[in-house]
Amino acid sequence: MVSLPQLTISKARKLLSKKEISSTELTKSFIEKIEKSTLLNAFIEKTFDLALNQASKADEVLGSSEQKPLCGIPLGIKDIFCCKNIKTQAASRILDNFIPQYESTVTESLWNNQAVMLGKLNMDEFAMGSSNETSVYGPAVNPWKRSDTDDLLTPGGSSGGSSSAVSADLCIAATGTDTGGSIRQPAAFTGTVGLKPTYGRCSRWGIIAFASSFDQAGPITKTVRDSAIMLESMSGFDKKDSTSARVEVPNYEASLEESIKGTKIGLAREYELNKEGNSTKTTWEKAAKHLENLGAEVVEISLPHTEYALPTYYVLAPAEASSNLARYDGIRYGRRSILEPNEGILDLYEKTRSQGFGNEVKRRILIGTYVLSSGYYDAYYNKAQKIRNLIKTDFDLAFQKVDAILTPTAPSSAFPLGSKGTEDPVEMYLNDIFTVPANLAGLPAISLPAGLDDTRLPLGVQLIANRWEERKLLNIAFNLEKSLQFNEKPNSWWEN
Ligand code: GLN
Repeated sequence: MVSLPQLTISKARKLLSKKEISSTELTKSFIEKIEKSTLLNAFIEKTFDLALNQASKADEVLGSSEQKPLCGIPLGIKDIFCCKNIKTQAASRILDNFIPQYESTVTESLWNNQAVMLGKLNMDEFAMGSSNETSVYGPAVNPWKRSDTDDLLTPGGSSGGSSSAVSADLCIAATGTDTGGSIRQPAAFTGTVGLKPTYGRCSRWGIIAFASSFDQAGPITKTVRDSAIMLESMSGFDKKDSTSARVEVPNYEASLEESIKGTKIGLAREYELNKEGNSTKTTWEKAAKHLENLGAEVVEISLPHTEYALPTYYVLAPAEASSNLARYDGIRYGRRSILEPNEGILDLYEKTRSQGFGNEVKRRILIGTYVLSSGYYDAYYNKAQKIRNLIKTDFDLAFQKVDAILTPTAPSSAFPLGSKGTEDPVEMYLNDIFTVPANLAGLPAISLPAGLDDTRLPLGVQLIANRWEERKLLNIAFNLEKSLQFNEKPNSWWEN
């Protein structure tokens, strides 16, 4: 008998449809696993009663004409998706005990497809971070450990609870959001698959906003096939989000196995990593070789403005965040600080915001307010918008020549908790160097595990495609995954 928590969506779906297993059985196996895995700090809100209820409803329709694509599949949801009557805080103190009265479009669509909700997953506060360390709940922990030390490692961020949970088999798949890399970098750090769709593919309605012109929801899964299955259920036009696009949602799974012979893959000259022998580089080169062996043609391309992507992102994303986070004033949502008798409304705002936001969020609000202020607006915000356009044009030109671009996902494997960004935040921001360009240009990109480094930690590679070409992206990723045959799993050291 297979171990239930290790199933992929596609395998579980087969067993469920044939009634060889029940969703209740499957859901219980995850509940048990979650209870044993508190050390990972991945689930911050458990909804087991709801899960068992949904599972038993799923069991009633399994095998019937009412069965939907995710019938009985237990998922974890990043704490940034508003879920009706379920505490949702984006891992921030300022949203203490916030209970949304509505359901995000993406999660609504998962439940309409009969998925099962196990609970809310840890993340960086308001999705700002690359290590899950800015969470009010404390960091989620990576199930992987280096072979040479016992250090606890970051599962990446901001969707660190999602990547940790999927990697440790605490749920079959999870939702994440990606503003600058928050789905792909955590996936790379945990040996999982993370997909950021084209901007506008998934509705942002009901997702707590960080930087609205970048934010996209997407899945973290165990396989590329599962990523295709999840994406289909998560995407689609939504009239409640004016930036969601009226484009057709293809059956991504149907074309996964097509040959990629003749596909053109670009390697950007600018990403040439200078340290010879570095495992990020060798893994990237290995993936390129695999693509060649599959019949793809690997060509050199140039993305001349890519070196400006990181500074551009760290002007624009904080600018949007400072505006989006202005709504947390102690009046409408979540936490309100207690005032002294002589204090007034301004004190209320000030106290609530200074006590409610963590340091990284405060830093972003300060930077964002600064770059938007009169006198600096043209020098920073406007200039960054222009560079964003140049970066987008670089990609447009590249996609006249190639079908997809292959890069490393992150500069290194997972690093120890507490080891980065404490003195200099830029050290942490550098994690996003390969992922932010796709967000600036609104492009779909996927990270898949490609090997282990010398300390036996997983490394990911990223494929980026042109807008709306998720079908092609998943097809290439599926072929590459099959060829790379990455089958490693962390051992269960964390279970109690
Ligand atoms: N690490 C990046 C940041 O801190 C990206 C976060 C994200 O994609 N949500 O802004």
